[in-house]
Amino acid sequence: MASGVRALMGNAMEKVLNCSTLPSLPGVAMKVLDLTRDRNVSIAALGEAVQLDPALSTKVLKTVNSSYYGLSTPCPSITRAMSMLGLNTVKSIVLGFSLVDFTKSLAGNAGGFDLPAYWRRAVYSAAAARAVAKATRRCDAEEAFVAALVADIGVLASLAALRNEYLDAVKDAPEDHDEMVALERSRLGFDHAQIGKELATRWRLPGMLVSAIAHHHNEASCEPAYADMVRCVVLGRFAAGALTYTDSKRKLGSFLVKSGEWFGLSRDEARMLMQTTAQGATELGKLLDLKTGASADVESILAAAQDQMVMTQVELQKQTDELARQTITDTLTGAFNRGRFNQDLARLTTQSSAPMGMLFIDADKFKSVNDTHGHGAGDAVLKELTKRVQNAAGESAIVCRYGGEEFAVLLQGADLASATKTGESVRREVETSKFELASYAEGLPTLAITISVGVSVWEPGSGATGAQVTAAADAGVYAAKKSGRNRVCVCKVGSQPTTLDGQVVAVEANATAVQHAPPVQTAPTQATKAAPKPAPAAPAPAVATSQAKGTLLIVEDDPLAAKLMELLFGKRTDLNVQIVDSGEAAIQFLTTPGKPKPIAVLADMNLPGITGINLVAMVSTKMGRNAPPFVIVTAGNDERTKALALKSGASLYLNKADLCTNFEQAYEQIKKMIAQHASLQQMAA
Ligand code: GH3
Ligand code: MG
Ligand code: MG
Repeated sequence: MASGVRALMGNAMEKVLNCSTLPSLPGVAMKVLDLTRDRNVSIAALGEAVQLDPALSTKVLKTVNSSYYGLSTPCPSITRAMSMLGLNTVKSIVLGFSLVDFTKSLAGNAGGFDLPAYWRRAVYSAAAARAVAKATRRCDAEEAFVAALVADIGVLASLAALRNEYLDAVKDAPEDHDEMVALERSRLGFDHAQIGKELATRWRLPGMLVSAIAHHHNEASCEPAYADMVRCVVLGRFAAGALTYTDSKRKLGSFLVKSGEWFGLSRDEARMLMQTTAQGATELGKLLDLKTGASADVESILAAAQDQMVMTQVELQKQTDELARQTITDTLTGAFNRGRFNQDLARLTTQSSAPMGMLFIDADKFKSVNDTHGHGAGDAVLKELTKRVQNAAGESAIVCRYGGEEFAVLLQGADLASATKTGESVRREVETSKFELASYAEGLPTLAITISVGVSVWEPGSGATGAQVTAAADAGVYAAKKSGRNRVCVCKVGSQPTTLDGQVVAVEANATAVQHAPPVQTAPTQATKAAPKPAPAAPAPAVATSQAKGTLLIVEDDPLAAKLMELLFGKRTDLNVQIVDSGEAAIQFLTTPGKPKPIAVLADMNLPGITGINLVAMVSTKMGRNAPPFVIVTAGNDERTKALALKSGASLYLNKADLCTNFEQAYEQIKKMIAQHASLQQMAA
């Protein structure tokens, strides 16, 4: 991150933390907190403290006597409440109330800020966190309740301190509160969880509350002692989203998945908890005197929980989590790894309308660093090199360790001229000052390091593949080595490499990788054997052209399900996945000359317009024997639907949930179907 950005981040955050208009914690809350830090605090002392604030004690009594706490006999006093409900429960209620009052005062007149939405989220989260904690008994239900109630306190603190600056930053925040965090980080340099954590620490709130506030958007990094509590709060957030967002399926899916994964709750148990939450939230809103808007239509939301979309979401979430877990960085240098390079290269050279510059970088005489100073020094050089490359290439550059001492840099949007300029800046950044390796490990030397850089570019519409661009950039490096090292050479796909002043560098034909065949297939001659190293193997996704891979056409109108299919089938390196969102678009794809001929079509049975079943019939009429085999997928699982699908001419019928949960098996069936179809076609011919 540029130091300027970092300084700015400090400023905005400091501004909130040092804001003189931030109110301090109410006296009663402080007193209660102080008292409860003492393990031996007496009920009488605590009761007295609360009774100092008559309005507060009235509210607390009203609450403990509400059906929410379900006391069998009415409770007349705070001290009595403590003996009936337990000290901890009453402490939590008191704390919850005073913190809510406090946050109300923080918000002031929140012109332009959707305060009702804030409270709706708080109340629903709190009710859900309490319900989950109660059902799972993994942490104190009342503590989970307060934690969820105040988790977002950083939002109101930022609002109080920064006003318009904060409103501006989050004004396009979507309904999904989780997305607010990214917006805050990119526009202000910090997020409300960080601010909330700092403030809660200053206010000396209990560690459990500090942790819940700090980690309510990032439970994975929470200290183990509070993990269950934080998970209840996070589930509270999912439930709040599921019950109050217009598009609730996503959060409902997350709630169902995570409550199972974290607490072993079954789907039915989780659904029951949603029910409890909805009831509890309405009552809580009244007790806390908070306007939370119309109450949720739980019945229809729960009905939707049976919906295939939600189950699809559940699978999608698992898949995405899994993908996120797969490491994308190189452990030594922290640069992106080769896998990520392949992914980004494929993305930028297929789905982009902007050019992409590429730098290929190779450390000069690196072997001698290892030989002279040891591997530790070599490793430190690689770390420092990564830092310098990123610094000079800029924050948006995708810096990847290609292998050994080779790095590849993707420059999104850069044309050849701009990429060349960046290449030269990188070279200079490395050469200008010596590498002081002692900062990586004691006793390491200070060394002068240089690099050779090859520059290439991908241009939209050029028809060049990512592999060709990589090979050209590598030919640039080779030319740079040939012409003396510590320099930049430029090489466009299909051209000879040149130095920066335009001189063509004569290199052995076989060693330059500008031919269209992937360089790795070039038979080594004497000349290439003498070369420093062969051109790198072309990256995997770009190697096989779409012709060499089989195309699978997927017809799916639901974007979420389409995304899931893309994730599932996209992992197969032998497949090229094409997705269209209607039967009409599928027919167009199948009948447009020049489009790849799919080896199979996978169609959703229920499509608006031409249904999957009609699609099979129409395609077979139009294409006759040339029609590809069809797989029909639906959410349904009854024999009638299956028979209907097969009768229409589909070769295979699959249930969506089976496809998701048992992908490998389903994929085997699809492959078998394709093979059978091919041999039938051959026999017919
Ligand atoms: P040239 O200027 O021609 O590129 O010479 P070079 O010595 O840099 O090239 P060569 O390919 O002969 O040597 C590369 C060396 O990089 C060999 C290998 O031991 C070293 N290397 C590769 N990966 C690592 C690593 O992770 N750590 C360390 N310390 N060395 C590595
Ligand atoms: Mg939040
Ligand atoms: Mg080298």
